[in-house]
Amino acid sequence: MTKAAELDAHTRRRHLLVATKIGLFAKVLVDVPGLPPLDYRIPDDLLVAVGDLVVVPLGSRRVAGIVATLANAADCEDKRLKCISAVLHASSPLNAEWLALTKFAAIYYLRGWGEAALPAIPTALRRMPTPQQEKRIAKIRDAMPIPDRSQESAIEAPTLNAEQSAAVNAVLSMSGFQAWLLFGVTGSGKTEVYLHLIKTILERDPEAQVLLLVPEINLTPQLVDRVKRRFPHEAVAALNSEYTDNQRASAWLGVKEGRSRILVGTRMAIFAEFRKIALILVDEEHDLSYKANDGLRYNARDLAVWRASKLECPVVLGSATPSLESWCRMKTGGYKLLSLTHRAVNRAELPEVKLISPPIKGSTRMVSDAAATAIEACLTSGRQVLVFLNRRGYAPVLSCPACGWVSACPHCSVFMVYHKREKALICHHCGARHSVPEACPSCGNVDILPRGTGTERIEEELGLLFPERTVLRIDRDSAAKKHAAEEAFQKVHRGEVDILVGTQMVAKGHDFQRVGLVVVLNPDAQILSPSVRAKERLFFTLMQVAGRAGRCGDRGEVLIQTRFPEEPLFAALAAQDYPMFADETLEERRESGCVPFVYQALLTVEAEHLSEAMSFLEQAATIASQLAPPEVFIYDPVPMALVKVMNRERAQLLVESSVRPILHRFLTVWNQVLKTLPRPSSASVCLEVDPSET
Ligand code: ADP
Ligand code: ZN
Ligand code: ZN
Repeated sequence: MTKAAELDAHTRRRHLLVATKIGLFAKVLVDVPGLPPLDYRIPDDLLVAVGDLVVVPLGSRRVAGIVATLANAADCEDKRLKCISAVLHASSPLNAEWLALTKFAAIYYLRGWGEAALPAIPTALRRMPTPQQEKRIAKIRDAMPIPDRSQESAIEAPTLNAEQSAAVNAVLSMSGFQAWLLFGVTGSGKTEVYLHLIKTILERDPEAQVLLLVPEINLTPQLVDRVKRRFPHEAVAALNSEYTDNQRASAWLGVKEGRSRILVGTRMAIFAEFRKIALILVDEEHDLSYKANDGLRYNARDLAVWRASKLECPVVLGSATPSLESWCRMKTGGYKLLSLTHRAVNRAELPEVKLISPPIKGSTRMVSDAAATAIEACLTSGRQVLVFLNRRGYAPVLSCPACGWVSACPHCSVFMVYHKREKALICHHCGARHSVPEACPSCGNVDILPRGTGTERIEEELGLLFPERTVLRIDRDSAAKKHAAEEAFQKVHRGEVDILVGTQMVAKGHDFQRVGLVVVLNPDAQILSPSVRAKERLFFTLMQVAGRAGRCGDRGEVLIQTRFPEEPLFAALAAQDYPMFADETLEERRESGCVPFVYQALLTVEAEHLSEAMSFLEQAATIASQLAPPEVFIYDPVPMALVKVMNRERAQLLVESSVRPILHRFLTVWNQVLKTLPRPSSASVCLEVDPSET
């Protein structure tokens, strides 16, 4: 018997003893909305412990559940209870730390404990016990992470520079819980800081484990390789929503059983069960992919801080452009700042940012003469150019100048985007796809025109401007096939591409060594957006895109084509001064009482007809104003800016307060009442805490 298995057997016997004394009942969590933990009888022939995965009868079904507590007969309402059918022995019981985490998440995000806990466990481990399932578990165990010693001879860790050492020493010198904000420009060596922290923490305590959270797009094989190369003796585990059930289960078990001491994962990894986490790292902590946009709607970064506080261990949030929430907590809420002020590789200087005007209105061109000249100069010097435009397709809309017809999506309140290469009109919200009409469907005019610009059109324009050069487009369309994006990036790295055109996909993570110039086309739509967070996101994106220029060698250049050169965020960008941007923006937010100075929750209803959604929300608002204490503000229900998506019409109701506990108390009561409120049969209702879109 291994040490781990021995321990588990011990825990099981101990719990069993307790169960025998207090009566053989259990409260079991199931993943059914609205159901509290359910009472079951433990049959005489079963050994059941708190945290066990079990199978229980529920109505006519059998479902997976988790034993939350063992109960005395007196605590169970109905003495003719059904029995637990089976215990899933593929793994040992879930531990108390994990149960507390999922319980907290359920309470905080206003869902049932079972709804928070069960989906966190890989489905492959939740299946009914059958001979087939046993084979599957054996396979999963065979695929558990192992040390990758082939990497052993690889590169040694660089010696840290003074700022990096100061950061590492600061974190290591404190015991107990502390949240650290590691603020450092792209390339300043944040990842090196993480790797050094991991090394020391693992050496200090042979049982310690570390969780490294990364955004969806950053969990590349390269990053996992970098970690494996540095820790050739560790069974590094990775978790990612793209992994198969079995892969997830293997990683999960590796971490749970303490074989893997390092877990690198996307937001779902925050719910992994560990034996002993001693450090949590959140890379690119401002990234939106930490927020789940369905189910529990949790924020993995926020849960990471909570989890670390309960574990009394450090948590490091790293970013070149921290979220305003974290910056604010650093200024006033106890987070401590660690700064890396320059790029780690000496020769790499920060790029120079220049603002230029777009071509005059009415011009058919999108790339201005100034941009074209700069592109030519950069190419002549033998370096690559990155052209950034955050809009894919050829043109965002087709229209008829004669009658005003536009290519509206029949299912959504948006335009269908014209994709020239695919000869299709595609809705980016519902995926509807129509062929391109040869003449205006409304008046028969044959001269229907694309309006506005997407990456495909820029690719075409650059091809015409620079016929001798290789232009490559990278966006979700060009990268639709598996590995296509990876291959495209490799081409860029090998220098087979002169001009790279791309969306958000090229902004993050990639270390383009040869890019000397970044051209940003049309950031203006986001400047004009009424959304509070639009500018913040634009700023983050531009800082990241700008970070792609001049990673090595000569100083890079960034050109931004905009009609709003006086916009303050460009000044902060030109100075590459995030603190200036953050401090100014926070001051504005404080004065206008916006997030992060208030806490919010958003009730969203989708229905067949907007009127149904609105009338439900109006009732909800009436109830809310009766329940709400003076510190909670209830807004009026409103249709969403994008009302219709996939033939469903949407409206929402925002509530907010500057005192989080008061808001939470109100939400808990309101949520209970909302569950009893009759709703139109077609409606789906979602109450979201700390929404990212309001
Ligand atoms: P970030 O995570 O902040 O983007 P990285 O840790 O990836 O930065 O570092 C950027 C580059 O600089 C990497 O190639 C890394 O190997 C190198 N680097 C980081 N720290 C040092 C150091 N102290 N000495 C030499 N090279 C370093
Ligand atoms: Zn027409
Ligand atoms: Zn649509």
